[in-house]
Amino acid sequence: MNIHTTEDSVRILGKTFSLLIAPGRIQSRIEEMAMEISNDFLKKNPLFICVMNGAFLFTADLLRHIHPRSGLDFIRVSSYNGTEREKTIRTIWGLTEKISGRNIIILEDIIDSGNTISYLCEELEKEKPLSVCVASLLLKDIPRESAVKIAYTGFKIPDVFVAGYGMDYHGEGRNLQGIYKLINSNNPC
Ligand code: 5GP
Ligand code: MG
Repeated sequence: MNIHTTEDSVRILGKTFSLLIAPGRIQSRIEEMAMEISNDFLKKNPLFICVMNGAFLFTADLLRHIHPRSGLDFIRVSSYNGTEREKTIRTIWGLTEKISGRNIIILEDIIDSGNTISYLCEELEKEKPLSVCVASLLLKDIPRESAVKIAYTGFKIPDVFVAGYGMDYHGEGRNLQGIYKLINSNNPC
């Protein structure tokens, strides 16, 4: 099946994924999040930091609805290889904007173990920002050691592997308009 579809299920690299969150629900939730963030950051000139690659669509759609003056920068980190968690988080490329004295809003696609976001918050705090908070489109509803508070959450989801709307399965599926969960596999890799 073509991965441009928003059908109930899709095939990516031989695996079946079923629709978890439809495109319309994603867009209306993002509009709500943008309204909340806009109200909270009036006159605070926040700097949004998009965590590449997964958050690129979330960032693009959210920023279209943000009203206050704001900046945008990108950072790339990785803690996943396919569906397998890697222990080490690698910073591949970093920020160009000055962090010190700014109100930082980190934009994430999904929080799983929370290791990536904890690492990022720690690294950014070293640059002496005025504040740091996190907006994540998805939050896996699992117990986690990391104590990072997620200020803005789009959807809580169960502990499943998802692809679509910016998130990939082995490099594919990012262009799907909906969010799909992997089914029928105990060994997704
Ligand atoms: P964490 O460090 O919280 O375990 O994972 C953070 C990153 O791993 C996320 O920002 C995301 O890029 C990736 N990730 C976590 N869970 C999933 C998932 O279910 N699907 C995909 N495609 N990426 C995930
Ligand atoms: Mg991510």
